[in-house]
Amino acid sequence: MAARWYVTVPTALVAALALLLTGCGDGGGGGTPRSPGGTTSPAPPSPPGGDETVEDDIDAAVRATDGFWSAHWTELFTGGYRSPQVSGAYDGAAPDVPLCGDEPLPDDNAVYCPAGDYVAWDLDLMRQGHRMGDAWVYLVIAHEWGHAIQSRLNEELVSLAGELQADCLAGAALFGAARDGTLRIEEGDTRELAQALAALADATPWTDTTDHGDASERIASFSRGAESGVRACLPDVVR
Ligand SMILES: [Zn+2]
Repeated sequence: MAARWYVTVPTALVAALALLLTGCGDGGGGGTPRSPGGTTSPAPPSPPGGDETVEDDIDAAVRATDGFWSAHWTELFTGGYRSPQVSGAYDGAAPDVPLCGDEPLPDDNAVYCPAGDYVAWDLDLMRQGHRMGDAWVYLVIAHEWGHAIQSRLNEELVSLAGELQADCLAGAALFGAARDGTLRIEEGDTRELAQALAALADATPWTDTTDHGDASERIASFSRGAESGVRACLPDVVR
């Protein structure tokens, strides 16, 4: 992905993501993190121009995600938009790891911390994911931002499946930013996004509020937001 250069996201790309997702859901592979894209798309393994550093991509992901929510909040919700703080990178293995409330931030993970209203990520998690493709960084940041958005919503707008809703909000923000022209989504990104969601998924389907959902659930939820926008991420009763 790249920020602020190109104007449109071809709808064919959204369709390509949907194709990937459909394929992933019917494999019956027990949530194995394997993209079925090889059978449906000749997408290149890495996008052209993908030589940005992880820090560059983090900055671009923050700008694109915050820019989307800032631009669209008032179309969607009452009140004004407040950006969460960006605490940014931490070293989850260090003895002086920052706290969220009384809890140290988790190693090799990323968080939205309600107590401080900030988003943060272990730099190792970002570096490792970035080697698989830059879309990882965008997904993680937009997902944690999704939790910040949830914290700003009335209770009835927040899904019990909060992690899947955060994926949906991430899809809505990233593809919404692409439609706004603040983010360019390249062909290889759709596959990378599916692979990242699968790699970060639970092995079992969603059953309670702390679950992230299995690979097909995470991909389907992200895709719903990407295709249909923020309102499609809200619980049925309020849509
Ligand atoms: Zn989450």
